[in-house]
Parts: sequence; C-alpha cells; structure tokens
Amino acid sequence: MPPSTWGGPESNSDETYPVNLLAHLLKQMMLQFGAQGACVALHDERIGQMRVQAHVRFKNARVLAHLSLSPLPPGQMPNMASNTRRLTANLEAGEQDIMQMSPILSDLTLPSIPSSIRARPAEPAPDEIESVDPHQCELFAVGSAYPIGHDLIGYTWHKNEAYAMRHEDYVTLFRTNHIQPLKIDILPSNYLVVPIRESTLADEMRGHPHSSNVLGVILLYHVSPNAPSFKAQRNEALNYVERIALYLQNDKLHRIRLRTSEYLQLLQDISTAFPSSVQLSELVGRIHQFVTRVVDVSSVLLTFYDRDLNRLYDVLAINNGKQVEGLAERPMVRLKSERPVWCHITQKEQRSLLFSPAQEHEKRLEYKELLTGLWGNQMDTESFLLLPMKMFNRVIGSLCLTSMRPNAFQPDEIQVLETMIQIVTVSIENANLYERDRSILSEARQREAQLAAINSALQSISSVLNVTELLNNLVESVAAVVKVDLCAFFEPSTSNDNLFVHALYAPSSVSMTDDGSGMPILVPQKKDKPDEIISQIQIPFKGTLLEQEMDEGFFYLDSAQLEELALSSNDAGTIFLRETGIERMLMIPMSYQTEFMGFLAVPTPRGNHSFRPKDIGTLLAICAQAASAIRNAQLFEQREETNDELERMNTLKDEFLVTASHELRTPLTAIRGYSSQLQRQSSRANPQQIMRFATKIAVAAQQLSDLVGSMTEAAQMGPVDQKIDLRIEPVQVFAAAEIAVSMLTLNSERTIVPDVSSDIWVSGDAAKLRQVLTNLLENASKYSYPDTPIHLSATSLHLSEVEPLLTPDQVDHALILDKGDISVVVVRVQDRGEGILPGDQLKIFEKFVRATRSLTTPVRGSGLGLYICRRYVEAMGGKLWLEHSIANEGSMFSFYLPQVAPPVDAVE
Ligand code: ADP
Repeated sequence: MPPSTWGGPESNSDETYPVNLLAHLLKQMMLQFGAQGACVALHDERIGQMRVQAHVRFKNARVLAHLSLSPLPPGQMPNMASNTRRLTANLEAGEQDIMQMSPILSDLTLPSIPSSIRARPAEPAPDEIESVDPHQCELFAVGSAYPIGHDLIGYTWHKNEAYAMRHEDYVTLFRTNHIQPLKIDILPSNYLVVPIRESTLADEMRGHPHSSNVLGVILLYHVSPNAPSFKAQRNEALNYVERIALYLQNDKLHRIRLRTSEYLQLLQDISTAFPSSVQLSELVGRIHQFVTRVVDVSSVLLTFYDRDLNRLYDVLAINNGKQVEGLAERPMVRLKSERPVWCHITQKEQRSLLFSPAQEHEKRLEYKELLTGLWGNQMDTESFLLLPMKMFNRVIGSLCLTSMRPNAFQPDEIQVLETMIQIVTVSIENANLYERDRSILSEARQREAQLAAINSALQSISSVLNVTELLNNLVESVAAVVKVDLCAFFEPSTSNDNLFVHALYAPSSVSMTDDGSGMPILVPQKKDKPDEIISQIQIPFKGTLLEQEMDEGFFYLDSAQLEELALSSNDAGTIFLRETGIERMLMIPMSYQTEFMGFLAVPTPRGNHSFRPKDIGTLLAICAQAASAIRNAQLFEQREETNDELERMNTLKDEFLVTASHELRTPLTAIRGYSSQLQRQSSRANPQQIMRFATKIAVAAQQLSDLVGSMTEAAQMGPVDQKIDLRIEPVQVFAAAEIAVSMLTLNSERTIVPDVSSDIWVSGDAAKLRQVLTNLLENASKYSYPDTPIHLSATSLHLSEVEPLLTPDQVDHALILDKGDISVVVVRVQDRGEGILPGDQLKIFEKFVRATRSLTTPVRGSGLGLYICRRYVEAMGGKLWLEHSIANEGSMFSFYLPQVAPPVDAVE
C-alpha cells in the first residue's frame, strides 16, 4: 500500500466472517425452527454496532407469503401511540410474550404482486435458500448496522434475551418514528430474535464465571400470516445459538491464528532488516507498513529522541492518511524543552498511553501537546495510543497512533505493536553502534592519511637546504594537508616595514606574472629561486595589526582586515588580497627562538569560517618544524655565501698579487736599474745624465707611492656597503674641472676640450670630485690614441632622463620613488681609443681589475681607480658608469651628482 493511502477503507476486523459459513448456519437454524427467512448481525468493533452480515430465505418464501396476503383497506389506521406505550411497558417489565397485540399497519411498503405468483399454490423446497438482495428488501438488509438498543436487533443485544414478536408489534415498537418507508418484497409475519452469547466455556477459561458478552444477533422469521408464534421456541433457540457462537468463535480463533502468524512473519522481516539496512526512510517505511497491517489507524507520528543533544526528531508523520513528505531525510527537530508532556511520559514514566481523545475530555486537555503538532490535530479522534521505544532503562523515541474508530487498539494488537517497536528499537541501537564503529574506523583512516600527509610535509621541508625550495615545499604541503588551493609564506623586508611573498602555492602550481599589460597572469612556478613576480607581492607590516599580532600563536584576518591591508599594499599585494577570492585568512607567525621569520598565510576554504582545531594543531606543528628547518637552510646558505665570498676574495687576492706584483715590480725594476746605473756611472756621469737617472727614479718612486696610496685608500674604504664620510657641500663643477685639467696638462701634452658652464653646481665633496675627474681624465689619456682630444662636459638633466643611459647594474628604480625626479648634473669624459671589450665593461669597476688588453700594454695601472671613483660618487649621492665604449672609437665614462643652486655669494 503506498504511504499516502494510509488508513484507507480496508478493514481487518475480526467480524468479517465468511458469508458461506453464516448462510449455512442460518439455513440449519431455519430448518430447525421452521422459519422461512433469517439474518445474522455481528458486532463490528470498528463502529461499535451490530452489522447485518447475511440475510437468507428459502426460495419458496415469496410464494408462501403471497398466498394469504390481504392489505388493510385505507382509512383503518390503528391507534399506534397507545399500542406503543403498552408494548414498551410490557417489554420493560420483562414480559416476552408480545405476540397477542392487535394488528397494525406497517410502514413498510409492498410491491404489487405478480398475478402468476398469486395464482400459483406454494411448493415449498425447504433446502434451497437464496440471499436477500438489499435493493429488493431493505428490512434487515445486509450491511445495515444497529447501535445498542436500536431497532429489534439493537434491543436484543441490549437485553441479551430471546424474543418472539409479531411483525405488527415490531412496527409499533421500533418503526413508528420512521418517516421514510423501507422497500420490502416479502412481509414477515412474526420474528424470533436471539442473542449470540459468547460461549460460557470461553468465559470460564478466562476465569470469569459468566459474562453477557453478545457476539451478535440472529433473527428468524415466518412469512405466512398463519404461521405459529415462535414463543415456545425461545429457549431452544438460545441453546441452539450457543453452538453457532462456538462455530463463530472457533472461526475467529482460526483467523486470529492466521493473523498472528502473519504478524510473526512481518516481525521477522523487520528484525532481519537491521542492521544491514540502516536507512531511516526504509525503517520508517517498514514501521508504517506494519502498523497498517495490524490496526486501523488514521494518523501516525514516529519520534526519535537524542539524549546527547536533548533533541527530538519527528521522522514520520501521517495526518489523516496523508504523509508529510521528506521527513525521513529532513526530520522536524524540536528541543526537549518544547515537549515537556512527551518527555514526562516517555522519559520519566516510561509507559504507554491509551485513551480516547473524543470521549475523555480531561485527558484530551492534559495530553493536548501529544495530540497536536506535525501530524495535525488529533483532538477529536476516537482512539489514541502512545508506545515508548524502550531500550533497557531509556526511551529513544515513541510511536503515536490515532484512529477514528472507538477502541481501535485492542490489547492483542497493542502487544504485537509493542513487540514490533521493541525490535525496531534494538535494531536502531545496533545500527547506531555499527554506525559508530564505522565512523570511528573512517576517522582513524582519515587521521592515518593526514598523518602520512604531515609526514611527507615534514620530510619535504626537513630534507631541503635551499630556503626558497624549502618554503615552496612548505606552502605546497600545507595546502595538501588542510586541503586548500592557496597558501603563501610572507617574509619581512630588510627594513621590516613590509612583508613580501617568498613562496606561494596557487592553483595548479602556477604563479602570478606580468605579461607587460600591467595585469598579472599565471605561469608555472619555479622551485628553487624566489619568483621575481611573486616576490613583488607586498603588504604592509610595520604599524599594522600583523605586527601587533605577531606574538600570537595564530590569528585570522577577516575580509575587513584584508581590505584594510589591501589599501596600503603595493599593486601586486592588492591584487593578491582582493582578486584571489580570499574570504578569511589564517596567519601563523613563524619564528626561530626569538627571531621572527615571517607568516604562513592560509586562506580558509570557501564557505568555511575557520579551520578545525586539529588542523590548526597540525599546521602549528609543521610550522614549528619548518622554522628550524628554515633556520638551518638559512645558515647553510649563509655559509655557502661566505664560502663563495671567500673564494671570490681568494681569486681577487690572486689577481691582486698578479697585478700588484706586476705594477710594483715595474717601478721597482726602474728604480733598481737606474740607481745601479747611477752607482756604476756616478764617477763618469755628467750632471745631465745624473739628472735623467734621478728623474727616472723619482717617477718610478712616484708610481710606487701612487700605487701604495691607492691601495691604502681602497683598503680604508672598507667593504662596499660601508658608508664613507665626506664633506658634502655645494661644489662648482667648473672649478673642479679646471683644476683636474690643469693637473693632467701639467704632465702631458693632451688636448682637453672642456664644455662646462660655470653656473653648474652639485652637492658633493670638492676634493673627491676633483679626484674623480682627475682619475677619469688620466684614464682617458692613458688608454686612448695619442694626440686625440679628450672631451669633458657637464649637463643638467632630470633623474628620469638619466636612468635610460645607465648600465643595467646601476639602475635603481627606488631612487626616483625616494627622492623624486630631481635635477642632476651628468659629467662625461670621452676619449678616442681602442675601447673596452664587452666582457670587461662591468668588471673594470671592481677592485684590482684591469681590462684584459691593459695587462699586455706598458701602460701602468692598479685597477683601483674606477673602484675608488665609483665609491666616492655613490657616497656623494650619484652614479658612475661606462656610458658607452666602441672598439677603436673610444669610451665615454659618465657620472652624475645631485644638482644644487649656486650659492648666492658665488653668483655675485
Ligand atoms: P688603472 O687605470 O689604474 O688600471 P682603473 O680602475 O682606473 O685602474 O681602470 C681599470 C681598467 O679599466 C684599466 O686598467 C683599463 O684597462 C680600463 N680603462 C679604464 N679607463 C679606460 C679608458 N678610458 N679606455 C680604455 N680602457 C680603460
């Protein structure tokens, strides 16, 4: 039966006896008592009335009846009121002989009699019976029901006695108030009506001596007006009917047995359905099916109770045959406090409850809570039953049933239902245990998988000595462990003002880059070098909540805080925070001992507000491990760097020794040569010769002293990042150039073409500026073709105009951001010489490095001049670079310094 037709017209009443049996019993009795017609009404529990189950006649009854039929002429109406009073008085006084009453008119109508029947004499065929068609004869028709005390049948039931009665008296007593006449084909003449008493044998067996329980009523009638009264046969009939009662009871028992075995089968079905099937909808379906097979119900409510959560779940509700859909999947949840009466009955009293809401008004009010709710209003139902689902001493739910039928739930049926509920309860508990086991197992498996992921994460970060690779492994493993698709490591900048991304795990291992359009695009990520584009992602640190929270174990950034950071981030940082769909981000500060290393940033998965505590625990453990691994890797890298530096220094030292020994040896050789010549020839040499030797020696000594001077100067400068103290002031480029040019022209014949305006002033150290100019002019003169001019110029430009002229290693975008597009003076020294090979062009600015070509020429040099010049120019806030050098055309060395306005007194 589909659930929506629950509680339909199908009846399981025990009173639906097989009509054949009843007809047979009636026939036997008719033969015994010489009656022509008979009917049997049996008690129908569903309606609480006697219902006619069979009505039969001998086939010849019609003929018999019509032989002597003579209706009264119109107008001869008997005094019905006085007849009724007398008869009622007789009946109440217990007098059963009511047959001698005066004839009265019936309210029953007779059809006209066919002449063939009138003419034909009766030919009784006593053993042939037929059922009386309710359409032809409505008197005691099959299906008619009689409440107790009503009509002849109800009266006999009420009195539990046998009566013999004439039809006229029957009409007077029971049918005077009837307005609608009954259709009738044969008019009975007199009746014998006998109650079917429940067998006394059964009573005795049940332990009570005698009960007047009436199972039904049998009514026999004659059709011939001349037939004798049944009066004398009443006792015999009572005895006879007792046998019929036994038949009926026997039959009933037989059917109860059948039903019991059917129930047993159903119960077995239910008990074997678990725990393999733990689906709630299936369970509910089976309970539903079972209940309809056992009892007559109109509404059902199945409720489960979870004592851990203190919640009630309505999982099945049928309101007057209509099922509330989808409850098994989405039960109606109520707090325990919302159903105090339910809790009292099921949890405290732990009992079942049976009453009739329609009849018992007090209970109906007391249990109103149980009679309303998801299954509709059950306040007017005839029967209500609550069965608790008990498991040892606790109740895990209830099954509530109602029926529109009075006494719908009999003890036997309740017992069956209780058994069913018990089986279901045990099954649910079993299923729960099974489910619990299963979830523990699956949790253990999940944990195992996570542990494996953590393990591999730890391994991947502990076994790597390259910091970038390690961080890339870290962000990737973290993303895998907590199942997110984005994870980043933020590192503080050297100034500690900002954080920049050192490693990023983004969808399918790609990272953001710039394709020139200004918009980032995604490209495969490099593993062992910091990705330049990724490291451009910068967010503020100093003074932000990130700095305030960095001592916490972890914290979350919500969307408002992310937006606040995005507002003061650089472009890439803003894009990262706004465009990657981050709703909330977990930040884990990472430090090794007291040294802060950065933040691990893990956005929460979409829709999830937070990570589970155990995930956070895992991440903290990984981060702690990662922090020491990073520290190790950093130390390793530092050591590598130091090693590299030492190696470089070693090479430099070697180069220096080569250069220095070469450069030292040359003047020393000269000094030694000339001095020994002087010694040897001193007696013969004339003063001019002595003068020549002495000059040679002085020049060589000067070279030596210059070399030693440069070496000392370079050494005193210290390492490249060490600041050099200078006296910075406005310096006139023209004046500095004039001195430098005169210094050079003093010792050489070279033509220098200056193009320096006298109003160009720079901020710098006058002596160092002169030294730089002298050095560049000297180089130009040393390394160019003889007799070619050297050009010296000074031009005022903006910093932005100079940047494109610089060599890539000298470009510093931050300068313009820091200082703005300031005015600078670019000083250029251009010669016409062999030029410098491309491979040497950047190297010549390093300490002791000379161009390869210079090593094979007699031109002396220490390889320190350009290094020293660059250090001084940078210390004055400028840059020095080789602007261009073309083979056999010459080179142009340039430097710029910040321009300043000429001092007022200088202009004057
Ligand atoms: P030094 O001139 O004492 O060797 P510098 O540091 O001044 O040292 O120059 C380094 C090297 O750069 C020189 O040895 C030379 O090889 C090369 N060099 C410098 N200036 C020029 C130039 N104007 N033309 C060609 N080569 C040059």
